[in-house]
Amino acid sequence: MKIVYFRVSQRSLLDNITFGTNMIYMKNRVQYLLFSLVVSTLATTPVFSQAQSEFGYDMSDVRMHLQFLSSDELQGRKTGELGNHVAARYISEQFRRIGLATASGMEDYFQKISFEKIKPPKGGSFIAEFGSYNVGQDFLVLDGTEKESSVDIIFANYAWPGDPKVDLDEIDVAGKWVLAHIGTPDNQDVQASLTDYSHQKREALKEAGAKGLIEIYQGRIPWQLLKRFLNREQIQVAFNDDDDSDFLYALVDGTSHEELRTLEQGPSSGAALSHDGRGVENIQSSNIIGLLPGTDPILKNEYIVLSAHYDHVGAGVQENNPKTLQDSIFNGARDNAFGVTALLTTAQSLAMEPLRRSVIFIAFTAEEDGLLGSEYYVQNPVIPLDKTIFNLNTDGAGYSDTSIISVFGLQRLGIEEHITKACASVGLGVFGDPAPEQNLFDRSDNVSFAKVGIPAPTISPGFKEFDQVIMEHYHQPSDEAASLDFDYLLRFCQAYSLIARSIGDRSRRPRWTEGDKYEEAFNSLYGDLPDVPEMEPEEKVKKERKKKKRERKKRASRSMP
Ligand SMILES: [Zn+2]
Repeated sequence: MKIVYFRVSQRSLLDNITFGTNMIYMKNRVQYLLFSLVVSTLATTPVFSQAQSEFGYDMSDVRMHLQFLSSDELQGRKTGELGNHVAARYISEQFRRIGLATASGMEDYFQKISFEKIKPPKGGSFIAEFGSYNVGQDFLVLDGTEKESSVDIIFANYAWPGDPKVDLDEIDVAGKWVLAHIGTPDNQDVQASLTDYSHQKREALKEAGAKGLIEIYQGRIPWQLLKRFLNREQIQVAFNDDDDSDFLYALVDGTSHEELRTLEQGPSSGAALSHDGRGVENIQSSNIIGLLPGTDPILKNEYIVLSAHYDHVGAGVQENNPKTLQDSIFNGARDNAFGVTALLTTAQSLAMEPLRRSVIFIAFTAEEDGLLGSEYYVQNPVIPLDKTIFNLNTDGAGYSDTSIISVFGLQRLGIEEHITKACASVGLGVFGDPAPEQNLFDRSDNVSFAKVGIPAPTISPGFKEFDQVIMEHYHQPSDEAASLDFDYLLRFCQAYSLIARSIGDRSRRPRWTEGDKYEEAFNSLYGDLPDVPEMEPEEKVKKERKKKKRERKKRASRSMP
């Protein structure tokens, strides 16, 4: 069947009528009336079968998913809130309708995740011999539940093994708070200091019986900026570390306090902390996961993951994203009801004609809170990661060019040609890695897979740079269904389906190009992998597909009244 890809500007009966072997599209109402006339004169002979698109879905499916997921009633789908749960339920029931299988060991399609919502203390004070500080201003309480405590404090330079000034083994930290510079004597990189190094320090100090670690910040990032980032409500995956809950972890601003930069090691002295409490609320959310077995006896043991995050940022006052008086709901139509719509329609399409490889469909939660849902999945996969050969993620900030789709990682996996071909067949061009300064490849859920070596691009609605057009709706209340180009969305869904199909059926697996930063992880995940040459089975698959299509059509016409 030859498909004419058409613009669907309004839903009408005629959008998808198959007429003989041709799909026809009526451009305007005059043609519609003429056509009705012709049809009515032929009324005794059934000339067209029921609406059936190449993909198994059409504009009504696309509108249904997008409009439901981005509706005001879902209140911006914030992780753990009611709108987020309703979106999850919707997606899972769509998976059921489509007939996807559930993964073994899972409760229905839900991969449940326990999160903690952390609210930092709003005010209080920290007083020591060397100075006094305001909680929430120049003293940030990042962990620990005690609101009032008086404990001895001791300075330990970097509190790092091998520190030339202070030998950690020589000082008694038991029952004390330890005051130290961030980072190590050799490395004060802010990110590493506040994550890896600080974590290692805290573990060692806990072991030695210390009551807490207070680090002196003197990094490159201005304190005010860092404070805004760290001192806000945050969501994290809940760990079962209740034993350590009274261990204090705090950061004090060394950039504006001279006295903190000239400390010398001496005996411990008294210090007191008092604040109005660090709130920890337990919340639940889920990744939604469905499976579609492959058709090839061998390749079905390999899985591709198709994914899109369904959470967004909620409603009400948002940091940096002020609500307006007229609207305070961040609907997230582009980000990322758009991608979830592509995921659901593609599930529908692939279920109709499964791929040679098996497919795992995942709608992720908590992307907006730091890619938490996808990270959780990679740590708790339903199919072993070394059997997962590819992830095609879809996510986007918005679009400014409806003649293209944008692909993060386009030239890194040896599949550029397949992506380009798939998009061209629905009239779309491809643009690789827009806004390189933003390093967007590493900023969506695909990176959770890439980090462990799995080839994982993200496709996004079309844009070439982060300009005003993108910023107009990016994380704004105006990112809603009414401002979307649905014709473009439909074609985006079709492109996503076709790319998935082309990679899932292809003999050769995607792999990182030589020297890519994720190549090493790839090698250690899959071991020595022979590169399979591109083979003719693609042709075989195409033939089989045509045959199936003919049979389907026969069945459809038989079922006509
Ligand atoms: Zn997003």
